[in-house]
Amino acid sequence: MLQKNQDIKLIIDGMTAEGSGVGHFDGQAVFVQNTAIGDEIDCHIMVAKKTYAVGKINKLLKHSPDRVESDCDVSERCGGCAYRHISYDAQLKMKEQKVRDAFQRIGHLDVEISPILGAKNINGYRNKAQFPVEFDTRDGKPLIGFYANNTHRIVPCMDCKLQSATFECVLQIVKNWLLDTNFKKIRHIYIREGKNTGEVMVCLVIKSDGIPNKEQLINELKNGIPKLKTVVLNINKKDTNVILGEACEVIYGDGYITDKLLGKTFRISPLSFFQVNSEQCEVLYSKAQEYAGSADLLLDLYCGTGTIGLSMSDNVKKLVGVEIIPEAIEDAKKNAGLNNISNANFFCGDAAKIAKELKAQGTKPDVVLVDPPRKGLDETLPSVIAEMAPDRVVYVSCDPATLARDCARFDALGYKVKAVTPVDMFPHTAHVETVCLLSKE
Ligand code: SAH
Repeated sequence: MLQKNQDIKLIIDGMTAEGSGVGHFDGQAVFVQNTAIGDEIDCHIMVAKKTYAVGKINKLLKHSPDRVESDCDVSERCGGCAYRHISYDAQLKMKEQKVRDAFQRIGHLDVEISPILGAKNINGYRNKAQFPVEFDTRDGKPLIGFYANNTHRIVPCMDCKLQSATFECVLQIVKNWLLDTNFKKIRHIYIREGKNTGEVMVCLVIKSDGIPNKEQLINELKNGIPKLKTVVLNINKKDTNVILGEACEVIYGDGYITDKLLGKTFRISPLSFFQVNSEQCEVLYSKAQEYAGSADLLLDLYCGTGTIGLSMSDNVKKLVGVEIIPEAIEDAKKNAGLNNISNANFFCGDAAKIAKELKAQGTKPDVVLVDPPRKGLDETLPSVIAEMAPDRVVYVSCDPATLARDCARFDALGYKVKAVTPVDMFPHTAHVETVCLLSKE
């Protein structure tokens, strides 16, 4: 068995779902971050457990053919880009394989995976960032950046390559204001930008009821960020990992920004979900649209601000959306209005619970679209959907493991996987989005 502080030679022969390299030593798995398949390394064991070990690179003995030089100073320390040192082609292959593996190993389904749809822009693609803020214990100055992997230690970084260039300007203005006012009760600087409109939202997550020199901050943001649309305070006094509190106070503008996707306009509030890569979001939604086809009644579960369903509305006679966050449902209703869509209804509540109620009322959608968070569908939902007997189910997923699990549940209920397309929404990270079409037998 491996011991802590032991040094070994290791060949990296696989990747975990989270993007760490894995090698094997005497049958034991050793996880090493910032490695690539094919690397041969001199490895220092940092953690040794019965069933696995965690190591770090002492020395890279042989480079994987997939390796490229990371173009970011903090990529090895910050928790963001697990794949910054891997070529984009190799990243795409790994993501496609991750989806294929999930269907085989977790779903036990033999399905064909279409080639992954890669991104044109692999940098500057994010339209949203939440930067944690802490204060240096030595000089009290603000530290703004990202948490190092699995820690609460901030790696200072204000010019992240994945983010919109505007965000760095916002951070600089807020940092200067923090230095001027000596205000310390700030937790996060949360920024959103409409990629197709340029509109910017700045939200300070604070653990007090207000901020000092409010007008100074607003004026400096207005002067420095020409497309600033709104500034919001989010109050979060709870001692948990959840970034946003429930209460927002708008201190400038209307409390939301708008963006355009596939020719439709959407309003985005601080608490509402909106896909973080607008350009690839259009690719994803277009694929979902192709799989959904036209429908008399489309049921869009986990609908957020209604974006997917509303973007399909030209081919849909009636749309029903369900979402648990009240602010997102408010946005969804407004979004229908903004786009002159009158055939849409939105309900706020748990997707499984509302789907049951809709079924009890005799609702018969011909297409059901689901886009759940990482944990996947509520266990009861596949059978509720199957009882509504739609022709097609389109499943948009951000976690191949739960997608494959849920597809196996649908399979047992007579809904077969007909097509699967992975989409790369998050270049340089280990995440992959997937659209899947299931049809009633
Ligand atoms: N389809 C939308 C949102 C997808 S993200 C889009 O593409 O923008 C998943 C959404 O599911 C989030 O908006 C989240 O608030 C919502 N959600 C999470 N748990 C839920 C539940 N139990 N019932 C309904 N919606 C839920």
